[in-house]
Amino acid sequence: MTAPVLIVGAGIGGLALAQALTRQGVPVRVIENAAVLRPVGAGLILASNALRVLDRLGLGDAVRAAGHPLSGAQLTTDAGRPLQTLSYTASGGAVGLHRAALQRVLAQGLEGQLLLGTTLRALHPQRAGVEVTLSDGTVQRCRAVVGADGLHSSVRALLFGAVAPRYAGYTSWRFVVPRPGPAQATELWGRGCRLGLVPIGPDQTYGYLTVNAPEQPPQVARPPGTMAEVLAHAAPFGGPVPAVLARLVPGAPVIRTDIHEVHLRRWGQGCVTLLGDAAHAMTPNLGQGAAMALEDAWVLGQHLAATADVPAALARSEALRRPRVEAVQRQSRRVGQAGQLEDGALRALRDLAMRLTPAAAAQRASQGLFSVHLDG
Ligand SMILES: Cc1cc2nc3c(=O)[nH]c(=O)nc-3n(C[C@H](O)[C@H](O)[C@H](O)COP(=O)(O)OP(=O)(O)OC[C@H]3O[C@@H](n4cnc5c(N)ncnc54)[C@H](O)[C@@H]3O)c2cc1C
Repeated sequence: MTAPVLIVGAGIGGLALAQALTRQGVPVRVIENAAVLRPVGAGLILASNALRVLDRLGLGDAVRAAGHPLSGAQLTTDAGRPLQTLSYTASGGAVGLHRAALQRVLAQGLEGQLLLGTTLRALHPQRAGVEVTLSDGTVQRCRAVVGADGLHSSVRALLFGAVAPRYAGYTSWRFVVPRPGPAQATELWGRGCRLGLVPIGPDQTYGYLTVNAPEQPPQVARPPGTMAEVLAHAAPFGGPVPAVLARLVPGAPVIRTDIHEVHLRRWGQGCVTLLGDAAHAMTPNLGQGAAMALEDAWVLGQHLAATADVPAALARSEALRRPRVEAVQRQSRRVGQAGQLEDGALRALRDLAMRLTPAAAAQRASQGLFSVHLDG
């Protein structure tokens, strides 16, 4: 029997790769640290480039049905005064949905290949393929190993040693309000602080805050975020914010994460590679983290299925993906730098420039983000 491709991490990118390979008859095994795929996380925006990958995987309709169609995104001042509007409809549509709903759709049909509560302990490269030791003590031969295990990737550490993610200078809180909010994605830019509201269902709104702050210490048992923190940082915001936050459920889960980027000179070595956040975590300012993991998964899946030469397939896939990912990472960082400004004069200039930019020019500038070359 052909040795499987081992995918480490049943998140967005790992499951998408498992779908892409399974559909082409390539055997896969997915191992996931978590003992159960709990509905953790909050909301995500999937723009048209992400939806194109999901359509190719045959999962686009299920994802659209699980989420909420987004016609556009509006940027406003902290008081709710419009600064710029982007039409998602003009660029092929977008969906807002809970991360757990996307993960559920991506996991469909993979139950037999998924091993929960398991991680990777060691990698032993062979002449062809890789021998791995799993946390349950089993030793397996694999055709390739793909680290899709997120920002704090253990596969990355096994490959390259400790690589410290680069802190972007701001932290975040994410939460879900069980009530409708604005009809389209709305982000309000305050002083060193942004607040976003995204419809992810007929009566569910995903909320997030990004706030300039020192990096939190990397401790394992860090206290979770709280609603009190969200309400304190949200207090200066007007527009739709007070009405939505009045509906917050006390004690509802709030996710607090610092915002990091990952930069690597190489994403892999031999028959082992990384994808998604493990390879190139980016700031969330363009809502493209999950989309990049999906694009990576599609491209890697095509290359792995097309040839028996695994190192060549991984190298070609990385060469194709790297310029695209680095451009999006850069663009996202710049949006964050502008959005997190604190100085009053600079903020006034920024807001003026945004108001004076014609909608068509702003739309054109975002076009490259949504059009992607998935074949080759
Ligand atoms: C719990 C969680 C909640 C999130 N919530 C949001 C959100 O609300 N909004 C948002 O925009 N983005 C969120 N993200 C980030 C977003 O999903 C990712 O940026 C994006 O989807 C990139 O996907 P990825 O597949 O590279 O990584 P991820 O989607 O992060 O998936 C990584 C997977 O690997 C697993 N894993 C980690 N370490 C190991 C290990 N050592 N062995 C085996 N498996 C391992 C994780 O449990 C996870 O299932 C969240 C990520 C996680 C893990």
